[in-house]
Amino acid sequence: DAGWTVLILSSTTPVARQVFAALAFAAITLTALLLAAANIHLRRRRLNERLQMQESAKAELERRVAERTEELVRAQSELIQASKLAALGQMSAGLSHELNQPLAAIRSYSDNARVFLERGRTDIVGSNLSAIGELTSRMARIIRHLRTYARKEPTTMGPTSVNRAIDDAIGLLQRRIDEAEVDVTIDLPRDLTVIGGEVRLQQVFVNLIGNAIDAMGASPRRAIRISGRDIEDRAILTVTDSGPGIAPENLASVFDPFFTTKDVGAGLGLGLSIIYGIIKQFGGSITARNAPGGGAEFEIVLVPATATLESAA
Ligand code: ADP
Repeated sequence: DAGWTVLILSSTTPVARQVFAALAFAAITLTALLLAAANIHLRRRRLNERLQMQESAKAELERRVAERTEELVRAQSELIQASKLAALGQMSAGLSHELNQPLAAIRSYSDNARVFLERGRTDIVGSNLSAIGELTSRMARIIRHLRTYARKEPTTMGPTSVNRAIDDAIGLLQRRIDEAEVDVTIDLPRDLTVIGGEVRLQQVFVNLIGNAIDAMGASPRRAIRISGRDIEDRAILTVTDSGPGIAPENLASVFDPFFTTKDVGAGLGLGLSIIYGIIKQFGGSITARNAPGGGAEFEIVLVPATATLESAA
């Protein structure tokens, strides 16, 4: 009210100190934050690098697995082929006999026919010629079985006739079956078709029937029963023989490669392991057991071709 102006002067040092302290704090915090951010960035980069390395290691691993799988498949199909050719070698004596027999018969039928032709007995000549015709079809059948069997089949799969595979296998082994006086019974629906390959399925039956014939060598009754049925989405095939069966302690090993109870030279122990591989390729399974009446029984479960057609539809 009196018109005075009052000035109060005080020192700015405490304020400056506070400002300095605040600035210093801010600078330290900022530096710490920057360091933390740099650290995080660095870690993230390292993590990314590591992930990338893992990613490429995984890709490399996958590539190698694919490569090895391919090698394995190739090796397996080579093995399948090699064992088939070995079996063919074993069969060759019997097969040449089987071809020689009708050849000799054709020879004598034609010799006779010439004689009868000179005598004007055309009726006999006619029947000789039909006999020759039948014999040549028999030879053609044997050769067809051989050709199918020896063929190297690609690993692809498709609908395959079980009836035909069994027929072809028996055709190839006919001589051994006859010689060993084995009674073969086949119990199949008219047209049982599974997913697989013709040659490989034939090989499965050649090996199973061959083993059964071997096993029944000393048995008083020699019989093989092959049956197949289609149950919903599974085709079940069994091959049972009347031999001594498989010793219980061997049941778990019969599918192992090189497992054999046969004499040296008589068996390599590869037959069942090859069958196992083929059935696996077909997406099926095979088991060995002893039948209730004695004798070995092999059960194969495969995918029926009709099931896949239905599911595709
Ligand atoms: P190999 O016939 O060369 O011995 P496999 O792998 O075909 O090789 O068979 C392995 C073994 O399984 C045979 O040595 C035999 O002991 C047994 N085996 C296979 N089939 C039969 C069978 N039908 N009856 C009894 N034993 C069998």
